[in-house]
Amino acid sequence: MNDSHRNSDTINVIGTVILIIGIVLGIISGFAFQVANSSGSYYSRVEYSFNWASCISLIVSSIFIKVEFSALACIARASEETTMMVYRLMNQISYNNAQTNNKTSKKSSENATTLNQQTAPVVSTNIWTCPKCGKINYNYVTTCSCGEPKP
Ligand SMILES: [Zn+2]
Repeated sequence: MNDSHRNSDTINVIGTVILIIGIVLGIISGFAFQVANSSGSYYSRVEYSFNWASCISLIVSSIFIKVEFSALACIARASEETTMMVYRLMNQISYNNAQTNNKTSKKSSENATTLNQQTAPVVSTNIWTCPKCGKINYNYVTTCSCGEPKP
């Protein structure tokens, strides 16, 4: 999914290349298709001048193509970003699901241990197990030697 931006970038590059080619071709055509001006009937010579019409029409049409390609690139970028968003969202959802599964499995194991701790003193009523250090104390001992009070 990392190369998902490639399409819109490629479209943009193509548009720019067409624009540059259009400008170059416009200038070349300006020189190639020079306009004949019959100026000065005195010498009846024909002067040739740069064909601005050809040059400008080529440049303007290439600018239009470039704009169209930019619009196309915008659409492509938008759809790519939507795809990325959906992709990230789906990733997030699966990640969250994994997290919740972990949590629930942890919780169930925690529950199991607390159950074990709770059931331990019940087994023999004469003693109690310190939840902090695990030392087994008699019932008349209200505080474990580690300082933990009897639960
Ligand atoms: Zn203790």
